[in-house]
Amino acid sequence: MTEKDGGLAFLPLGGTGEIGMNLNLYRLGDTWLAVDCGIGFSGNDTPEAEILVPDPVYIMERREKLAGLVITHAHEDHIGAVAHLWTRLGCPVYATPFAATVLRRKLGEARLDQQVKIHVIPCGGRFNVGPFDIEFIPVTHSVPEAQAMAIRTPQGVVVHTGDWKIDPTPLVGPPTDIERLKQIGDEGVLALVCDSTNVMTPGSSRSEAEVRQGLTELMGTLKGRIAVTCFASNVARVETIAMAAQAAGRVVVLVGRSLRNLDVAARECGYLSGVLPFLSEYEANDLDDDRVVMIITGSQGEPRSALSRISADTHQTIALGEGDTVIYSSRMIPGNERAIMQVQDNLTRRGVRVITDKEGYMIHCSGHATADDVRTMYDLIRPQYSVPTHGEWRHLTAHAALAQEKGIASILLEDGDILNLAPGAVQVVDTAPTGRLAVDGNRLLAMDGDVLSARRKMLFNGIIIASFAVDDEGYVIGEPKISAPGLLEQDEPESNRVQEEFSNAIDEIPDELRMDDGSFREAAKTALRRALGRKLQKRPLVDVHVLRV
Ligand SMILES: [Zn+2]
Repeated sequence: MTEKDGGLAFLPLGGTGEIGMNLNLYRLGDTWLAVDCGIGFSGNDTPEAEILVPDPVYIMERREKLAGLVITHAHEDHIGAVAHLWTRLGCPVYATPFAATVLRRKLGEARLDQQVKIHVIPCGGRFNVGPFDIEFIPVTHSVPEAQAMAIRTPQGVVVHTGDWKIDPTPLVGPPTDIERLKQIGDEGVLALVCDSTNVMTPGSSRSEAEVRQGLTELMGTLKGRIAVTCFASNVARVETIAMAAQAAGRVVVLVGRSLRNLDVAARECGYLSGVLPFLSEYEANDLDDDRVVMIITGSQGEPRSALSRISADTHQTIALGEGDTVIYSSRMIPGNERAIMQVQDNLTRRGVRVITDKEGYMIHCSGHATADDVRTMYDLIRPQYSVPTHGEWRHLTAHAALAQEKGIASILLEDGDILNLAPGAVQVVDTAPTGRLAVDGNRLLAMDGDVLSARRKMLFNGIIIASFAVDDEGYVIGEPKISAPGLLEQDEPESNRVQEEFSNAIDEIPDELRMDDGSFREAAKTALRRALGRKLQKRPLVDVHVLRV
């Protein structure tokens, strides 16, 4: 059960909990394999940090033993952190052609494309990463080329599903390779590490073919402009919308940068070949209202997205109003409800009809396995142990109950739990440090570090800064200046009172504190806190600049 015995272990560093940003690690002996490296969106809880990545400190300290990073698919919560964390990992990356294309663009934007070695692995391909013998198994998901992995080691086989579902008619890409999964099950599998996102949805998954029929029927009944919003990376859905539009005699316009980027990546990899080139948003205004379908980014209410701006009537080219329809071909991701509702409310106020899958139209299906899909996976793989991943505790528990139906024991893990898989007992043997880093411009800041703590404090309590000049004996020259953005207006009476009291208080500072900059500054900070007093019932950040002239 140590690194010396050649044993096999699994360690999730991100991926459980509400914000699922995946970073999974496998260890064989003292060699490590990383699977996926994704970002998460913080939602309303931490407004000071919008994009989060898992803290990779544990694997960073072992980076010379990290053989590689395998990407299962091109969703942001699996691929989005590679460009942010690669300099800390420094290992080669393995991905399918589509994921590699998406990744290269991200690395290019981060000026890392020359440094990162990407091995492009065909869908269903088999390859070695250090001592790990890995086979990709194509699965259906809401992005092209999602792959499950069979990881073969001298200690046993682990099947890592990534995100997946069963859809006999996915329309883009092959269906989940049931036959191959069964063959791998026949080999004997030690553990199945499996997606839990939709495990609480009973029955089987709905199919993309049903969505194509539903959207085609719906569009056939609509007049005026139609706009459809969906995830840009869902190439099958983009094709579905385009096909439904063509059937209704409409041409398709793409609105939003992420959709244009994904369109380029998809066509580069041979997808969307049956779909006419999309028009740009600038061409939309020359078309009759009844002849156009717009595909628009912003299904999650993202404030800078095209749909949010259209709903607020601040988009530079596109306007929607009375007689137009917006279709949400997407689900609400938990945490985004309020932002989405606000966009829908603004659209409705402009007279736009908003249609979601709540109204009984078959216009969306999920990319994640439902309860019956998960049961099928257990029937195919027949593992000795089940390791539910990707979800909150209630999802993991529901998943464990399904495994139990099949007589398979589950081990529930939190991020940082190191699970020994072989040899010896399958159990958690140690804990690795975990955490979240916030993407702040081109830096990564620890969520519980000094900078973000200060920013949180500023956000709720404001900041007050005093500056004044002193001569070489430490006596104040002129009047001190006070500024308190987010707390006081420049010339409100309270501001003047604080300035006056502070001015008097620094005159009282004892001579022996005036010669040393550090002590003078600390004394002045105390004076500033006292001058501010309790009237505002706030404890802002306080800072003082002393200039010796
Ligand atoms: Zn996914």
